[in-house]
Amino acid sequence: MTQPVLIASERGEVGLAAGMAVLRGRGGAGPGRAMDAVEAAIRIVESNEEDHYVGVGGLPNLIGEVELDASIMDGATRRAGAVAAVTGFPHPISIARAVCDLLPQHVMLVGAGAERFADEAGIARGPTLTEEARQMWQDGLTSSGLADAGTRHGPGEVSYRRKVLERIATMPPPAGSWGTVNVLALDAAGNLAAGVSTSGYPWKYPGRVSDSAVIGAGNYCDNRAGAAACTGRGELAIRGGTARSVLVRLAAGDDPAQACAAALRETADLPDEFRSPLQCLCLTPDGRHGGAATNAGATYAVMTAADDDYRVVERRRA
Ligand code: ASP
Repeated sequence: MTQPVLIASERGEVGLAAGMAVLRGRGGAGPGRAMDAVEAAIRIVESNEEDHYVGVGGLPNLIGEVELDASIMDGATRRAGAVAAVTGFPHPISIARAVCDLLPQHVMLVGAGAERFADEAGIARGPTLTEEARQMWQDGLTSSGLADAGTRHGPGEVSYRRKVLERIATMPPPAGSWGTVNVLALDAAGNLAAGVSTSGYPWKYPGRVSDSAVIGAGNYCDNRAGAAACTGRGELAIRGGTARSVLVRLAAGDDPAQACAAALRETADLPDEFRSPLQCLCLTPDGRHGGAATNAGATYAVMTAADDDYRVVERRRA
């Protein structure tokens, strides 16, 4: 039997106890599955209204709608499910899981189709925009002189919004330690799973899809090499195929932190006028883990089945 391990990006620690309860096995049930642990842990993060980058309380897009992205991947089968630009559902990770389990002919659903499928799968609808998040969204626009960005309609709307996006790109990231959540799990049977959930960039263009929903970019998992996931500048992770790159480096013999740093370095030369930090994490089938970030001071949380609580580990600077 393998010792179960869970790791999570910053702010994911709130879900680790719930995920570990699954891996240990609740109420006399045998040890649980990595896929179930990832979903359980991420659902807790999605419910945390103080986290303004994930689930309920996530900051809205340019027109004031909370659009959520999520994905989950099973290392045993390399089956995956992903959803993007979902509105009106607080737990996109559970929609992604349902795509993986119930719709094996597809991997990714977006927008109205994802919402239709979620209804059919019996996944609960619920509010996602909190008053605090709405106010932060409004304050960000007002302080940039863009107060009517979300409400302006009519001729010129598209070019106006383009200008708004250019201005928004120059706004500093919102203060506070928020971000997309990554949870990677290794279960007692030796199977890996990776999950990611995000509300994406605040004020993003409606319909923008982050790396968090793109298998190979923000999420990848394969029992033969490891599980990896990203946070930060999603467009760079998509262009660099970052999560998959981490696994290629692991398979080539890098240790986890080296593999993450090497994958991030592959994005360093990409031209990007909106560049901001990018981070990644990985977990191997023998329980080793590591992380890297292009910014200083980044960390992640780890909990094994032998631990009473999580501990925080520094990421390597890429
Ligand atoms: N990766 C997310 C995105 O591109 C953002 C983040 O993690 O900060 O929307």
